Amino acid sequence: MGPDDTILDGPKLTNYKKDMADFEATPLVVVRPRLEEQIPQIVKIANRYNLKLVPWGAGTSLTGAVVLEGGIVIDMRYLNKILKVDLVNWNVLVQPGMILDDLNKELKRSGFFFPPDPASSFACTVGGAVSEGSGGMRCVKYGTMRDWVLALKVVLPNGKTTWLGEPLPKNRAGYNLVHLFIGSEGTLGIITQAYLKIIPLPTVPVRRLVVLFDDWASASKAILAFRTSRIVPTIMEFMDRENVMAVNQAFQTKWDEAEATLLVDIDEPNVERASRIFRDSGARKITIAKDEKEAEELYQARAQALVALKSISTGTRPEDVVVPINKLVEYLDLVRRVASKYKLKIPVVGHAGDGNVHPVILFDKNDAASTKAAETAFEEICRYAIGVGGTITGEHGVGSEKAKLLVEQLTAHGGEEALRLMKVIKRGIDPKDLMNPGKYMDLGYDDHASSARSRNRRLGRERGETVR
Ligand SMILES: Cc1cc2nc3c(=O)[nH]c(=O)nc-3n(C[C@H](O)[C@H](O)[C@H](O)COP(=O)(O)OP(=O)(O)OC[C@H]3O[C@@H](n4cnc5c(N)ncnc54)[C@H](O)[C@@H]3O)c2cc1C
Repeated sequence: MGPDDTILDGPKLTNYKKDMADFEATPLVVVRPRLEEQIPQIVKIANRYNLKLVPWGAGTSLTGAVVLEGGIVIDMRYLNKILKVDLVNWNVLVQPGMILDDLNKELKRSGFFFPPDPASSFACTVGGAVSEGSGGMRCVKYGTMRDWVLALKVVLPNGKTTWLGEPLPKNRAGYNLVHLFIGSEGTLGIITQAYLKIIPLPTVPVRRLVVLFDDWASASKAILAFRTSRIVPTIMEFMDRENVMAVNQAFQTKWDEAEATLLVDIDEPNVERASRIFRDSGARKITIAKDEKEAEELYQARAQALVALKSISTGTRPEDVVVPINKLVEYLDLVRRVASKYKLKIPVVGHAGDGNVHPVILFDKNDAASTKAAETAFEEICRYAIGVGGTITGEHGVGSEKAKLLVEQLTAHGGEEALRLMKVIKRGIDPKDLMNPGKYMDLGYDDHASSARSRNRRLGRERGETVR
């Protein structure tokens, strides 16, 4: 590593103090390895001096998972090569710093693609997306990262390197440690190579539809009608008026500012039937992107929604609860009620096709009361999701933000033993707690578990439900 690859202070260090939701911490040092072989050496040094460690992909995560107080940040940006593309076995071998869009640009030349597409795919890395278990717009059809990772090469917290999984379409040999690492948020080890599954690009033409509604209820009705229609959209994204207004303001565009907008990708043979479903549900206007350029502009408008919202508010909390889709109408209504109760703006945007519509809580970061209101609103929305059998996070992960709520969810849904096992696994793999400490369930979960239990029982009784 050259002198530029070890950062101890100054403006360059500042780049590593915040994630994209402004969770903050100050690392002791940032290192930027150029060679994979340097990673175990760094981990061994950390072991010798008992220093905490966190891998850094692009820092686009949203829950405090990537920021670390007083430890070593390992920026993986230079380990960003495609090592092998195998069009017969349908997999690629990549380094963790590879940006998802760059991977797909390369694969497109061979007529293949890697389906998971977080809206941050223009910046986020393979290592970060695997470690977050990220989702994205195409999840409704193709699932999340969890469905597309075959094998991982990892450096464990003791400095030893191992392969997990096999680059094969089928493999039943042993416990699934690949899935254990997917979504582990840098708490178990450092991914240095990944075999990812790829598939041929669809041969049926796909059309991009923009569907406008005058109210959220009609849009929700359309989403539910779609679920039983047996048409599988490739994407089905929801944006409310505030989102579209923010996008228009931030990027000087002129998209229609309807109360609710759905952006939907449909295989061409199904377009007519899909349009009928939208019209029957009360859609005001349906437009089909006229060419690839316009389709891409629409996609970018949606992908940049969070960036646009960040530009109009000093504080943003982009949340990602998932509710069972049959609860979508009730959930959207709850978000509106919470916004009005705490006098906050909470635009909603996201993956309507799989029930993962993100409420983005806007607040004034310089005002203590507004910041507190945002925190309370966030907790209320998460607890609602837990109460209806949903989850506090579909794709953004736990980080430091939701460590407490993770305990609440698992205890509410009969997962107390799962919590204990998670802690056993973490201690087994990382006995010195070097890797990304203070994240996930490690935040004092023992103390928190019993209060979470009583809270869940009380909420359950109030709702007159049987709590699992
Ligand atoms: C505008 C915007 C839109 C977004 N849209 C989506 C979306 O649609 N879907 C979605 O799921 N998320 C979304 N996100 C969240 C985020 O972009 C994703 O979680 C992304 O996959 C994180 O990738 P990253 O490279 O930035 O990871 P980072 O933020 O750098 O790291 C995330 C976690 O991974 C760990 N990590 C990174 N590299 C490694 C490695 N090599 N080995 C082990 N651990 C590692 C880090 O320690 C950290 O815990 C969005 C964020 C933004 C800003």
